[in-house]
Amino acid sequence: MPKMRCATTDLRSTRELQAIHKQCARKLADLGLESLTTVEDIRARASALSERDIQLVPYALSGSGVHGLLVRTDTTDYVVYDSDTTTMHREHIILHELSHVMCGHTGSNKRELAEVLCRETYLDDQEVEAEMLASMMGQRVSPDSHRPIAVTNANLRRILASLTLEGSPAAP
Ligand SMILES: [Zn+2]
Repeated sequence: MPKMRCATTDLRSTRELQAIHKQCARKLADLGLESLTTVEDIRARASALSERDIQLVPYALSGSGVHGLLVRTDTTDYVVYDSDTTTMHREHIILHELSHVMCGHTGSNKRELAEVLCRETYLDDQEVEAEMLASMMGQRVSPDSHRPIAVTNANLRRILASLTLEGSPAAP
């Protein structure tokens, strides 16, 4: 499994990060997300904001090189997160993907059918913003507070099966 690294600090100046932090703090306030205490609350808020159904889907992503995906279909956003990692990491993955939803990130230049956002490639401003927002929300959430919704959607299974994950599999 690839080690988590904080590429934001590699790629961004302190001043730039402070500006993003400020911007994210304002966004949390604007969205009324300052005092939320569970991942489920944040999921529900993101769903209301985007007017889309959002489901949290645990999935064995180990070895794929990614820990979380946002898979968007016509009506539903599936936050697929690595089921094989620590509770805290799972929570962070989910909050990162929900941040993409709440920030209105599109990622439209990446995929057509299934829009896939890889959480460990900090390629652009969207990734940095989502990572920052996730970290800030994580500080307001108590561990073990989310209850994943079971996958029952055959369509999602099909999409997941057809995904070619970016990057090569993680070296042992
Ligand atoms: Zn991301």
